Amino acid sequence: MERDLLIYNSLSRAKERFTPLHPGHVGMYVCGPTVYGDAHLGHARPAITFDILYRYLTHLGYKVRYVRNITDVGHLEHDADEGEDKIAKKARLEQLEPMEVVQMYLNRYHRDVDALNVLPPSIEPHASGHIIEQIEYIKKILEAGYAYESCGSVYFDVEKYNKDHNYGKLSGRNIEDLISSTRSLDGQQEKRNPLDFALWKKASPEHIMHWPSPWSEGFPGWHLECSTMGTKYLGETFDIHGGGLDLMFPHHECEIAQSVAAQGHEAVRYWMHNNMITINGKKMGKSYGNFITLEEFYQGSHPLLTQAYSPMVIRFFILMAHYRSTVDFSNEALQAAEKALMKILDGYRRLMNLKPAEKSSVEVPDFMEQCYQAMDDDLNTPQVIATLFEACRIINQATDGGAQLSAEDLENLRLLFTTFLVDILGIRVSADADSADSMKAYEGAVDLLLEVRNNAKAAKDWATSDLIRDQLKALGFNIKDTKNGVEWHLD
Ligand code: ZN
Repeated sequence: MERDLLIYNSLSRAKERFTPLHPGHVGMYVCGPTVYGDAHLGHARPAITFDILYRYLTHLGYKVRYVRNITDVGHLEHDADEGEDKIAKKARLEQLEPMEVVQMYLNRYHRDVDALNVLPPSIEPHASGHIIEQIEYIKKILEAGYAYESCGSVYFDVEKYNKDHNYGKLSGRNIEDLISSTRSLDGQQEKRNPLDFALWKKASPEHIMHWPSPWSEGFPGWHLECSTMGTKYLGETFDIHGGGLDLMFPHHECEIAQSVAAQGHEAVRYWMHNNMITINGKKMGKSYGNFITLEEFYQGSHPLLTQAYSPMVIRFFILMAHYRSTVDFSNEALQAAEKALMKILDGYRRLMNLKPAEKSSVEVPDFMEQCYQAMDDDLNTPQVIATLFEACRIINQATDGGAQLSAEDLENLRLLFTTFLVDILGIRVSADADSADSMKAYEGAVDLLLEVRNNAKAAKDWATSDLIRDQLKALGFNIKDTKNGVEWHLD
């Protein structure tokens, strides 16, 4: 489908019209998880943001090759170049083979993001499975003169690169400021400049994950895997590279420098970054005691949570904000999201049960076009949700008997919900047997209460009848007596 999609390119700091390199095809790379711990909210946001982009591009008819890597080597404890490998450390502490650690957390990651209805990528390459390619990539950078060997390790020469190119162009940082703010750490004497980053690290004797190379028995630096695997699966130049804003510097900055050094030109045409998540206004971190895993959200098992939140509530909550805005998680905000989602699902359920009238008695705006325009404007999901609420208002009018809808209008509204709520926002509705069952149970319970109220009324037991009406109202239900019986919906 021909549409003008605008996306915000972090490189130009402007919204740009998206035109793929190869008509009809899109190559998209997103920095995936580092698998040394359970998936948490910080994993959920990029997974959902780029799932929306993947779904929308696919919906528009593009053939998308979506690559999301697994970082299973070279993520060191202190910074990208120093300390023990986090997976190796976990393996040592838990007496596991490193690949067991990787597989265990990868399985859990898949389980947790599947629950969020995040579609699997087309290719999910492991850094540890691409050591040969990374060694070849380092050779190219060495040949171009932008890296040097030191004590069995290979470092990228940032100062030299910056003389010929512009290091810091993505994050808008300036090399002089960076040099003055970078401390020289112990063990960094091998580097010419503290800004230089490792392409290959010689493994210390206690390091258990290492491979042979022309320079030493060692392992690749973290930034290298994305340049290598992006190019391997998407070509020397590809369309979109995404990730969290926290990866913009130094990770993505280093990726640009590596591509330019190895290939003579950049690899990525559009850089996209999702903003970060805070919890009750604070950064998420183990030291703040607010590090909540997705599993803990689903179970309600973290002390900061007053209840469990279903994966669809988490997904909907994240989509209620634009991906470039910050999101603050709190129980109040999640409960509001839960209520909002129930309202939309309630509208969808009513819509499916509505009978067409001869003619519509109200004007139904072109909601489909409004949603397309919102998505075309840099994936404005909050605007799509606002439009779905507008549609719910008309649906509620129709189910309360205050409006009538023609067969054509009903069909368009149904298409609106299946296209935007189900396919593009990726909200699971009736496909999920559990939620269909619980929806049936919930409707049955409300109907039953209303029947009890009717019986109370018939018996002139006004106290009981009023109690049921008032309590349901307090819970957010709108109840109306119509000539066809009692109608209700969530307000
Ligand atoms: Zn990456």
